[in-house]
Amino acid sequence: MTARLMNGKAVARTVRDEVAADVSTLVASGRPAPGLATVLVGDDPASEVYVRNKRRQCVEAGMADLHRHLPADITQSALKSVLDELATDPAVSGILLQLPVPKHLDTAALLARIPASKDVDGLTVANAGLLARGRVGLVPCTPGGVMRLLDEYDVALSGADAVVVGRSELVGRPMAQLLLQRDATVTQCHSRTKDLVAVCRRADVIVVAAGVPGIIGGDAVMPGATVIDVGIHRTPDGLIGDVRFDEVKSVAGLLTPVPGGVGPMTIAMLLANTVAAARALDERSVGA
Ligand code: NAP
Repeated sequence: MTARLMNGKAVARTVRDEVAADVSTLVASGRPAPGLATVLVGDDPASEVYVRNKRRQCVEAGMADLHRHLPADITQSALKSVLDELATDPAVSGILLQLPVPKHLDTAALLARIPASKDVDGLTVANAGLLARGRVGLVPCTPGGVMRLLDEYDVALSGADAVVVGRSELVGRPMAQLLLQRDATVTQCHSRTKDLVAVCRRADVIVVAAGVPGIIGGDAVMPGATVIDVGIHRTPDGLIGDVRFDEVKSVAGLLTPVPGGVGPMTIAMLLANTVAAARALDERSVGA
């Protein structure tokens, strides 16, 4: 069997077009364009590239770019004040604190300053709690993007055996919750899992977010399974994922490539979260 590749670039384009149409509708009805405040602390080159891409796509979708670039030596209290100001600014629909922040800063305390309604990265305790309870909130962008990819390719989830490799707050945990919400039977693996290959081989759907290059090979995949590779690693030969692509391609039914699979979905879902946050804020102010 040769797996069909899941085209994250094309699906992300569809999501971005939907967001742009939503923004046009909002603006045509006399509402302000949604505004995304990306907050970058310091000059980490990788973070700068990520933030630049987010800002560019935000503007392309017709939203306001309300970026803040702050010095690497900013104090915790000064950064808290910036977040508090953005939290109350009606022009700001979504706040994204680019992580990691410099080591002298307390990430959890900073994230706690972001109101759940503007938490377009879905990283606050409030949004994680809503997700754990199966209630509506803003969902972290990468797992949200994986769900959209699975839906675009009509992957059956109800009753399916799903394995998530990884349990980070950013990817693994919310991913497992989202699959559970869709009635998959979810197994979550991590670095202490006894026999990763055997657990994965039972799965109809495998989402790999371990951050270990090539951790999943053909021996860990049931013929015909859907395999989603969240991992991203830079090598001298280009980007690779957590999945041994050539091996798994000959066993799986559906497979995301790296690059061009999950990666493009992440920013697209950030834009979708921002427009959803703007709508929700607007509905609340109309109801007030
Ligand atoms: P992370 O915070 O480092 O978490 C990795 C998880 O994998 C941990 O839960 C860890 O288990 C588990 N793990 C590590 N080694 C393992 C092993 N040998 N067997 C089973 N589980 C193992 O990483 P992350 O932030 O979730 O990111 C994961 C990967 O996705 C990275 O490559 C990252 O670059 C990529 N990523 C991509 C996107 C995108 O847009 N495509 C977005 C976010 C992240 P323990 O909990 O036991 O330590």
